[in-house]
Amino acid sequence: MDTILSQTNPIAGIQADFGAYAEKMKRKDDAHRVNGIPDYSFSMDWRLREQIRKLPCFYALSKRVAVHDEARQRQIKTASALQVGPNQFPEIYEMALDCAKRLGIGPPNVFVQHDQTMNAYTFASDTATPIVVLHSGIVERLTPGELKCVIGHECGHIHNEHSVYMSIVNLIAGALNSGGLGAALAAMLTQATLLLFYEWNRAAEVTCDRAGMICADNLEDAISVNKKLLYGTFLNREDNVNIDDIRSQFSNIAAATSVFTEMANDHPSSIRRVLTSEEFTHCELLYRWRPELLQPGLELRSKEECDKACEKYTAVFKESRKAVG
Ligand SMILES: [Zn+2]
Repeated sequence: MDTILSQTNPIAGIQADFGAYAEKMKRKDDAHRVNGIPDYSFSMDWRLREQIRKLPCFYALSKRVAVHDEARQRQIKTASALQVGPNQFPEIYEMALDCAKRLGIGPPNVFVQHDQTMNAYTFASDTATPIVVLHSGIVERLTPGELKCVIGHECGHIHNEHSVYMSIVNLIAGALNSGGLGAALAAMLTQATLLLFYEWNRAAEVTCDRAGMICADNLEDAISVNKKLLYGTFLNREDNVNIDDIRSQFSNIAAATSVFTEMANDHPSSIRRVLTSEEFTHCELLYRWRPELLQPGLELRSKEECDKACEKYTAVFKESRKAVG
């Protein structure tokens, strides 16, 4: 009976006990945590997350959604994608092991799915091993070093417990696009709440780009991933991208009316991500994780200074106020 039930109901037998997960995380090596938070996390991510957490019933509902989502996606991916391991794509398997070890989390299950879009994403709850999905488009078009940064980014979502919040953001976004009852329920949220979710989601991506850099073999790989998300991969001319020109391009979009479109995006534009990643290469905290990557003569800044600079590139909501004068 239990077997039949677990085949038909992906959440049968699973306990939504995030307290146990939090306790397990707390016991991990605390050398890189400040008040229980990974020390590299973008301050805007945690600040906005606290605001979301205070919404009535939000966290309890989100936990349930994350548990259901993770269990359902595990079944879907097991049926439709290839799980990497020591005998299947062992190099990707090794990358995941290495990134997980570097961040101090358990290794995720990694699936490669046939899909030509350049995408990767994670499902996690406290009830099972997290899942990282890599589209074949990203595996085919990135160098091994760049792919490792993507896997490190996804491990960052697990390390920072983002999935609880991201599951509900995705649910709402899906409901809004679905029409019918789902859209009606999502519409009950105020516009301000939705915009808060998206603003947080964009800040969370900055945190995880930093995780990707901490896991990188070479910091340039992490920046070139975002460059390729900007212009594509077909020419292999990332050396033609000039960071000062990117900054100048950013100054043309900051506080322009186009920020209203960006406010409803769950990821920062790649222009912004190139700049926030470049900023983190100057952060002294990065080299506490990876002292061997520090280049002689590099100008270093504190974590606070780095967060402040990254907020300038990420705070679309603030820019929107400037855009209207
Ligand atoms: Zn991400």
